[in-house]
Amino acid sequence: MTTVHEPTTPVTPPDLSVWPASTTEPGPGDLAVGGVPLAEVADRFGTPVYVLDEAEVRDRCRTYRDAFPDAEVLYAAKAFLCRAMAHWTDDEGLGLDVCSAGELELAVTTGFPAERIVLHGNAKSPRDLETALRLGVGRIVIDSPSEIARLAAAVGPDGHQKVMVRVVPGISAGGHDKIRTGTDDQQFGLSIADGYAQHAIARILDQPQLELTGLHCHLGSQITSVKSYLAAVRRMVGLMSRLHEQHGLALPELDLGGGHGIAYRPGEEALDLTALARKVRTELADACTAAGLPVPRLIIEPGRAIVGPAGIALYRVLSVKRTGHHVFVAVDGGMGDNPRPALYGVRYAPRLIGRHSTATPAPVTVVGRHCEAGDILAADVELPADTRPGDLLAVPVAGAYHLSMASGYNLVGRPPVAAVRDGIARILVRRESLEDIRGRDVGL
Ligand SMILES: *Cc1c(COP(=O)(O)O)cnc(C)c1O
Repeated sequence: MTTVHEPTTPVTPPDLSVWPASTTEPGPGDLAVGGVPLAEVADRFGTPVYVLDEAEVRDRCRTYRDAFPDAEVLYAAKAFLCRAMAHWTDDEGLGLDVCSAGELELAVTTGFPAERIVLHGNAKSPRDLETALRLGVGRIVIDSPSEIARLAAAVGPDGHQKVMVRVVPGISAGGHDKIRTGTDDQQFGLSIADGYAQHAIARILDQPQLELTGLHCHLGSQITSVKSYLAAVRRMVGLMSRLHEQHGLALPELDLGGGHGIAYRPGEEALDLTALARKVRTELADACTAAGLPVPRLIIEPGRAIVGPAGIALYRVLSVKRTGHHVFVAVDGGMGDNPRPALYGVRYAPRLIGRHSTATPAPVTVVGRHCEAGDILAADVELPADTRPGDLLAVPVAGAYHLSMASGYNLVGRPPVAAVRDGIARILVRRESLEDIRGRDVGL
């Protein structure tokens, strides 16, 4: 007697390593985040739509608080900001790093305490500074020599404002040329090498209404090595030591910026936060002891690492085209809602959701709907060979620098943001409509 076995294709469980911790597979081909099936979100709110896992954002805030218990953690709002995001980060005990009057005013008018906000910007407009002083922002980070006199005048002889100075430590780090800001010869900060930083500091000390609380540096973004941060600590403490000798200064704060790298695709490297916290603390304590300085309070400013992995972009496939050596799967969004691939050449790992396909995986290029050949979301990724118009694609790690950098290109309208939590989805930011676009078009 023989036993007949059904031919079985081994079911490989989906690699969810870059997805939010709440992600489950309720049925074959389905994915749920925050207890809500993603296909349901797409059907209810339309596509493209961005999904934000509230618990993932809050967990990431807590991870930072736990890893850096003595530090001040500021969420870098430019990664993504809406009122709910400001509330979540406030609830979790983080401060905020903003770089415009717009970000500042949105946060403060929804109740974020202004004294826990730091204002950055290499070119602050008169309105940025006026808003910061009017709302009582905690600290302003001076980024150019001309800002010192302007700010001192705006504060007035009887006023008082805490400031920091953005220093260029001369360190090359970051995932791409366009996001490296720790080196000399780029537009951010004041260089130690050419003496601009020291000169600016001396001028700030001459302004009694400006209180210098510390130095700031931000090396760049998508940094995966702890070493760059340790080098920054040494350079910054070196400068603090010279300031101590020259001016008798012992600055109480040191802001090391953000830039903590995350994985966008399974297998990619992320910055190890626990190692970062431990090694930076040791390096800072050792360097300060050697220089005879009190250890300043550390400030860090993560943006991407708080919100990036908490977001998912959902798109619907509009067309599938076989041409030359490629299969192009075109979706109903793209560079209008996510300019990162066109800007930095980054690539994502999209997945088919909402239907179970038994077709074999085939290499495809996922493109957007915008009128640019560079509107490519994912090149040479595998999707089921039967992927067709009407299918849903989910792109993980879509929470940071997508919608905050979205444009009005092709008048497609920017997608909405839905929060998911405990099985409930709700809209945080609605879709941009033609009425919104027409409303701004006031001349003829
Ligand atoms: C952009 C920016 C950050 C955050 O960078 P991430 O890569 O999102 O962590 C922090 N500080 C400053 C000054 C920035 O410009």
